[in-house]
Amino acid sequence: MNVFQKDSQFIANTYARFPVALVSGKGSLVQDTTGKEYIDLSTGIAVNTFGIADGEWINAVTKQLTKIQHASNLYYTEPCAELAKILCQRTGLKKVFFSNSGAEANECAIKTARKYAADKKGKEYNTIITLKNSFHGRTITTLAATGQEVFHNDFLPLTEGFAYCEAGNIQELENLVKTNKVCAIMFETVQGEGGVLPLSQEFVDKIFEIANKNDILTICDEVQTGNGRTGALYGFMKYGVLPDIVSTAKGLGNGLPLGATMLGEKVKDVLTPSSHGSTFGGNPVACAGAVNVINRIDDNLLDEVNKKSAYIINSLKNANGVKSISGLGLMLGIETEKDASQVIKYCMDNGVLVIKAKNKVRLLPALNIPFELVEKAVEVIKKGCAL
Ligand SMILES: *Cc1c(COP(=O)(O)O)cnc(C)c1O
Repeated sequence: MNVFQKDSQFIANTYARFPVALVSGKGSLVQDTTGKEYIDLSTGIAVNTFGIADGEWINAVTKQLTKIQHASNLYYTEPCAELAKILCQRTGLKKVFFSNSGAEANECAIKTARKYAADKKGKEYNTIITLKNSFHGRTITTLAATGQEVFHNDFLPLTEGFAYCEAGNIQELENLVKTNKVCAIMFETVQGEGGVLPLSQEFVDKIFEIANKNDILTICDEVQTGNGRTGALYGFMKYGVLPDIVSTAKGLGNGLPLGATMLGEKVKDVLTPSSHGSTFGGNPVACAGAVNVINRIDDNLLDEVNKKSAYIINSLKNANGVKSISGLGLMLGIETEKDASQVIKYCMDNGVLVIKAKNKVRLLPALNIPFELVEKAVEVIKKGCAL
């Protein structure tokens, strides 16, 4: 049996996969089982921050792997303590809880917000306002946080206590705060799964103004936007705000599962022993790799990210078959005249891996993708859009 046959017989049918089986790669180039090579602009959905089989990251990971691969959170280990320290130093947040995925990082954010309100204002202040068209994960609670009914329908009842606001609608936000007992407002700086849509500066400022006035927490879901993706270390930095809680995952581990929930001054001591935990969270191998990842996301690299972003936007915005291009940094969405799936298929056939977000072609290249590969890939995408 080949991989396609085994998958179709033995793997739960939750993914509409592309007909490609990836085997190995280096940097932004990847090969499939037939030996065909692709320029990878998908990075496992914004996960492989430094591309495939990155040498420095492999060194950091294997060095830890040969010492101790896991210890449980009953004991101290150096890599997770070091990672927490550098995350706090680089963001201005104060403490970190580690988990293994974006959904778990958001679960921790939600639990922290509810407990903060229960301790301080009363447990009836349990409503979290999230945005319509958002995406926060696949667990029952993070599905409830996700403001898209299509994800809810088959799994009711979901966790209670979420209210949804249209992104950019200040009036609706004000009304929801008045008519609910609210503990937090939760948002992505760029709605990734929702179609690569950045929030406006005005709306983000309003969220923080309303939150400050009412002792409501701000939760920024940086699972996809985090770790250099937007051209800042975290997306909130592009807006000049500091959320109370920041969740991240995807690009933090460069391919090893790792989630982090960063807690600001107001909430840094809300979680207490036995109020939350994770067996695998803060795994020393994943954390040793992440220390390497975060330390390499410096001003030079972010400058490169912003330059490549500008090049891609300028090359594509007036190209034939392109209606618009949205996003920040190396998280970009192309609205195409043709169906996005057709463009994606053309690119795949011609050696470029791109993915979809709603009706858009989504680009999430490695932050260190060589400029020549960006140029080559852009030419293929242009042709795909123009056909
Ligand atoms: C991918 C994603 C999640 C879920 O992350 P998982 O690791 O799949 O649980 C949550 N929020 C956002 C913004 C995401 O892009």
